[in-house]
Amino acid sequence: MIPSNPDLSGRLALVTGASRGIGYQLCLQLAKAGAEIIAVARTVGGLEELDDAITELGGKCTLVPLDLKDHDGIDRLGGVIAERWGRLDIMVANAGILGAVSPVGQMKSKTFDELMSVNLTSVWRLIRTTEPLLRQSDAGRAILLSSSVAHTARAFWGPYAASKAAVEVLGRTWAAESEKTALRVNLVNPGGTRTHMRAQAMPGENPDSLPTAEQTAAKIIGLASPDLQETGKLWDVPTQSWKDYQLPA
Ligand code: NAP
Repeated sequence: MIPSNPDLSGRLALVTGASRGIGYQLCLQLAKAGAEIIAVARTVGGLEELDDAITELGGKCTLVPLDLKDHDGIDRLGGVIAERWGRLDIMVANAGILGAVSPVGQMKSKTFDELMSVNLTSVWRLIRTTEPLLRQSDAGRAILLSSSVAHTARAFWGPYAASKAAVEVLGRTWAAESEKTALRVNLVNPGGTRTHMRAQAMPGENPDSLPTAEQTAAKIIGLASPDLQETGKLWDVPTQSWKDYQLPA
């Protein structure tokens, strides 16, 4: 299991993909638990709505309208956090896109490049720029959003699945490199959740059959707890269990 109802008072959390869906709800719930939020996405309207909701809770939020394809912008954000706060306690790499559900050999190269830029390269740039800040925290926590398809070879989902499989390997490698520090790095499979991305991926599905983003986020925020011990693992939301990787070290 992971800690429930974590006390995150005074902790600083950076969340990407904060304008809607799982990321928006993660921000709200991290703020409810006491964390100050740095919220990243492109859609200013969604970010402003989040800011209002967090302010209403009595929390604090800094909005960062940023396209994660602007990789140098990610580094600039790291610089601003270093200057203003000098540390980061929680980093959630949640933003993601589906690209296109299409045969591997038929995806347009622009679509493939954009998918990798958002789902993979931006996560690596976030890792690179936040690692020194997370190491300044007494209990740095990194949470990287993956998907169950990272472990499959489902027809028509190749590039999206490959981007998530690569994120998992990056995250596990980072965890191995940080094992002797206070930093804990984990992956998450949120499971099917009622969001914009899911509706795009499964247009024929009844959204009412799926958990809401609020319900999914509630099953993830324990990974931000300073009490969490695990690192380099995959937290599987649908089964509420850790999936150990069985590969040789
Ligand atoms: P969503 O509702 O579509 O939200 C995606 C978020 O990512 C939005 O806030 C979007 O903000 C942001 N984003 C997309 N492109 C961006 C860019 N270029 N720059 C900055 N931000 C960008 O998706 P979701 O379902 O909540 O997904 C969250 C994560 O869970 C993703 O990593 C997804 O792969 C994973 N996941 C979801 C499901 C599911 O069933 N929903 C299942 C498995 C895994 P802007 O458009 O405002 O920039």
